[in-house]
Amino acid sequence: MPDTSWMNWPFFESWHADMARELDAWCASELPGIDHHDTDAACRQLVAALGQAGWLRYCVPAGPGGAWGGKLPDVDSRAVCILRETLARHEGLADFALAMQGLGSGAISLMGSAELRERYLPRVARGQAIAAFALSEPDAGSDVAALQCSARLEGDSYVLDGSKTWISNGGIADFYCVFARTGEAPGARGISAFVVDADTPGLRIAERIDLMAPHPLATLSFEDCRIPAAHRLGEAGQGFKLAMMTLDIFRASVAAAALGFARRALDEGLQRARSRRMFGQALADLQLTQAALGDMACAIDGAALLTYRAAWTRDVRRERSTREAAMAKMAATESAQQVIDRALQMFGGAGVVSGQPVEKLYREIRALRIYEGATEVQKLIIARELLKN
Ligand SMILES: Cc1cc2nc3c(=O)[nH]c(=O)nc-3n(C[C@H](O)[C@H](O)[C@H](O)COP(=O)(O)OP(=O)(O)OC[C@H]3O[C@@H](n4cnc5c(N)ncnc54)[C@H](O)[C@@H]3O)c2cc1C
Repeated sequence: MPDTSWMNWPFFESWHADMARELDAWCASELPGIDHHDTDAACRQLVAALGQAGWLRYCVPAGPGGAWGGKLPDVDSRAVCILRETLARHEGLADFALAMQGLGSGAISLMGSAELRERYLPRVARGQAIAAFALSEPDAGSDVAALQCSARLEGDSYVLDGSKTWISNGGIADFYCVFARTGEAPGARGISAFVVDADTPGLRIAERIDLMAPHPLATLSFEDCRIPAAHRLGEAGQGFKLAMMTLDIFRASVAAAALGFARRALDEGLQRARSRRMFGQALADLQLTQAALGDMACAIDGAALLTYRAAWTRDVRRERSTREAAMAKMAATESAQQVIDRALQMFGGAGVVSGQPVEKLYREIRALRIYEGATEVQKLIIARELLKN
């Protein structure tokens, strides 16, 4: 395991460090066996493996008498961040597989009925059901309150019509948490959330989307898609709030994933700097390299401090961590992009060869500056919090 000094920071309890070490060893032994030729199959395999090993149990709460399958009474943000950081350092798709189990089921954990929680969450925790979070639409991404997908109540059913796009796990998910307009009020106050099983008639995968760093992703189409009214999560009109609450839990963990990518890039850069000879010395002996390494290490620790402060604020202070999570997400994703770029530069031509770890990291990091609120959106959130006080 590379730099472990962060484990001694005051944000953590001793079990967090034990968990990080155990997961690191698990990644080293299990992840190389995953076949990445077929991204969908690799993702399914990863969800099953993470579930069998018990790691997905950190993505859902335990529930009464352990009925929801989680490891802890509440989702522990620090644990989720450590899991994502460690997985991302080893393998981006493994991080994605775990993150989506949490994000995709978060709305059920927060506001599902007892029946829905007992039906879905234990399967999510065991890796037997793949979850997805369907909020964005072709004309509603950053401005998500403008979403148009509709759900109208007909007797004891809701009927969904419209589309969702950029949906991670789209095409391989077993169920989707879908946010649709129910019209109780204009804008954000007229949206509700629903669980929709993937095989529900009227739900169709309209298009699979290929990404620069392959992950399962799709556009979904809903046409007269009828679901039981009991599949609504929370009260009618509360869907937007529920989406934001779910994102609030997991936003700091996007920062943690960026941190994992950046740490891996620094490790790769250090190895390269020590081993590459030029001008009669090692690349590491050149002061410009040392300056780069200093910048990279400082950016990583800064991002880590912001990330774990956000997670700790939520877990220990039990306070809303909107500002802290937004700062962490913005700073960690933006600085990881720079750290990875600097590491790639140390590899010269070898850095841009397909399949090289730094080349993969270069592609993996890019989307994190866009999804779950682009950097510009995080800036607005931080400013709003500052001006509020
Ligand atoms: C890999 C990936 C996975 C995703 N997974 C999911 C998922 O599982 N579920 C889901 O619901 N969605 C998902 N998304 C969607 C994601 O949340 C949206 O892409 C994101 O919110 C941006 O929306 P948009 O793409 O429509 O861009 P737009 O809203 O068109 O924004 C374009 C750009 O405008 C800029 N911008 C935004 N706001 C402002 C502002 N106020 N001022 C100035 N500039 C601004 C930003 O730079 C932004 O990148 C995913 C996206 C990607 C790329």
